[in-house]
Amino acid sequence: MGEPFLLTPGPLTTAFSVKQAMLRDWGSWDADFRAMTRSLCDQLVALAGDTAGEFVCVPMQGSGSFSVEAMLGTMVPKGGKALVLANGAYGLRAAETLRVMGRAYTLIDKGDYLPPRGDEVGRALDDDPAITHVIAIHCETSSGILNPVAEIAEAVAARGRSLLIDSMSAFGAVELDVNQIRYDAMVSSANKCIEGVPGFGFVIARRSALEPAKGNAHSLSLDVHAQWQGLVKSGQWRFTPPTHVVAAFLEALRLHAEEGGVPARGARYTQNRDVMVAGMRELGFETLLADRWLSPIIVTFFNPAHPNFDFSRFYELMKAKGFIIYPGKLTVVDSFRVGCIGRMDAEIMRRVVRAAGESLTEMGVDNAAPPAAAIAERAKLAA
Ligand SMILES: *Cc1c(COP(=O)(O)O)cnc(C)c1O
Repeated sequence: MGEPFLLTPGPLTTAFSVKQAMLRDWGSWDADFRAMTRSLCDQLVALAGDTAGEFVCVPMQGSGSFSVEAMLGTMVPKGGKALVLANGAYGLRAAETLRVMGRAYTLIDKGDYLPPRGDEVGRALDDDPAITHVIAIHCETSSGILNPVAEIAEAVAARGRSLLIDSMSAFGAVELDVNQIRYDAMVSSANKCIEGVPGFGFVIARRSALEPAKGNAHSLSLDVHAQWQGLVKSGQWRFTPPTHVVAAFLEALRLHAEEGGVPARGARYTQNRDVMVAGMRELGFETLLADRWLSPIIVTFFNPAHPNFDFSRFYELMKAKGFIIYPGKLTVVDSFRVGCIGRMDAEIMRRVVRAAGESLTEMGVDNAAPPAAAIAERAKLAA
């Protein structure tokens, strides 16, 4: 059997040509590589919808969390205060990041998956004039919920505060157009919806918000302003760039454009999700979220209540059939996740469903219905 499909939210399954693009070495100081960096940044700013030259793209070495940390440390000044909107692990990680770097923050914690809404963000900002920045997670990958960033952005802009978005797992497949949603910076990484390999992240920031951020950063290497200025002055990353990863990413961007950009990528993932969710529901599985909140990125399913169901066994059976699934991250009920992103289409998702059905049979599980406690938990979303 060949390599398995990764039904995970990054690293994910990439195209052969993306892997092939890494078979050549580049000098980081060379003009050819500088041109690659420039092209990467220009294309990403264009993907964000900026045509007026108001935004800049700053790539940053490391996994996505390094770029989140760089964005927070650079954009939130030492005397600022952040409001973090959390409904899962990534929101809580943003708060933890601020705590470690010694920035003041307050938290709206909605638990495992309830969405932060625009009106409550508005009230929190009215109640606390010291808040300068709001941190929102676009798709909270731990449950798969697509948070309502448009209404959050409206509430933040109406009160003259600054919005920073972690769009790590959504950018490239879900619109985050600067002409429609007002924000000062967003962050994503190479190995999510653009379908590159891991190795760097990037911050897309409003120039007028980044310019005054000089000297804010808590860290030498994780300084978006300094990295930006380095790129402007020399065209180079300040420290060794992941050259092969950048080459792979440019090929991934080419495939992204060839497919039809953000709308087409989003449509393929949505079809992946719809085919997979419909098939899993036919097997008796139930989703944590109502359809309205399901992202086209990753879906959380409750573990079946059947006594023969065992997640690690299910995982191994799925792996033996060529599919790597993902454990759940909910604190209240047992769950697992299936990703819809990566170089996969509806036909692959039908095979995923078939593999899940066969795995249930092999475990002796004839009914995939979740326990009553899971259904009760889910009812909170409708309340
Ligand atoms: C993947 C992801 C990150 C970054 O995770 P890394 O493991 O550091 O790459 C941050 N936020 C969200 C919402 C993510 O999905």
